[in-house]
Amino acid sequence: MNNIISGTEASKVLRGRIRMQIEKERIAPSLVVIQVGDNKASNIYIRNKKKACEEVGIKFELIKFNETISEDVVINEIKRLNEDALVNGILVQLPLPSGFDEGKIINTIKPVKDVDGLTYENVGNLVLENECLVPCTPLAVMELLKMYNVNLSRKNVCLIGRSNLVGKPLIQLLLKQDATVTICHSKSIDIKNYTKMADVVIVAAGHPNLVTKDMVKDGVVVIDVGINKENDVLCGDVAFDEVSKKASLITPVPGGVGPMTVACLLKNTLKAYEIQN
Ligand code: NAD
Repeated sequence: MNNIISGTEASKVLRGRIRMQIEKERIAPSLVVIQVGDNKASNIYIRNKKKACEEVGIKFELIKFNETISEDVVINEIKRLNEDALVNGILVQLPLPSGFDEGKIINTIKPVKDVDGLTYENVGNLVLENECLVPCTPLAVMELLKMYNVNLSRKNVCLIGRSNLVGKPLIQLLLKQDATVTICHSKSIDIKNYTKMADVVIVAAGHPNLVTKDMVKDGVVVIDVGINKENDVLCGDVAFDEVSKKASLITPVPGGVGPMTVACLLKNTLKAYEIQN
């Protein structure tokens, strides 16, 4: 049985839908990415975002600053983009170099243009179950579960990781689907006690081989958000070879949540366009 949740395939489907809508409605949503410094990983992520945008007909612009500029320069640029009616999405590529106040910079973005869903207003609206822009990676996890017909209502979900970017928004999205959610983190004792009971295990810790076969029950659904490098090889947080033998569905790394995250950025940019028009 093929039990692989292919983020590569699912993202193709989602990107296809977005491209069709943009073509049919003859619209031109646009995304601006702000980068400060020259972080190597960020350069790769931004290149992927640019390519994905251009493939579906979203206008992409990168504004790149040297890391010696002052915070005010970035803030003033965001204020200018906030007022530019031709710009629908604004994304500040994280991490910012040390010394930059991430919270202050992110919260300068107008919430309706905040395609990463990280402003206070979007975070608050997510908790209150109001319409809002949701962070791309948690959204990608939910899209994958939906596309593979995993019904979360009344299911036990064990989530490992409580970051603002992934874990915390996922708690809200899972609760909204009526799942019973258990959250584990670096200070949790005996995580296995919780993962063993779970119908769905979602792990976003950044720790290779954190979830092993003895920690999950037969038929579990496993979503691996982690991206790690071990001996120069990309891997997630799950011991994939052994856990995949017990799982009814499982995401690989690479080719799982990653590609879907990029597709969800396109989805959010289109949604931002719709909110603004
Ligand atoms: P983070 O470092 O901000 O948070 C990690 C979380 O995991 C923390 O809440 C911590 O308590 C928990 N944790 C760490 N070690 C643990 C352990 N041994 N046991 C239990 N919990 C533990 O990271 P993040 O930004 O949430 O990212 C998590 C992982 O997901 C990273 O590998 C990151 O690269 C990856 N990521 C992937 C995508 C994607 O598109 N696939 C997007 C964002 C992040």
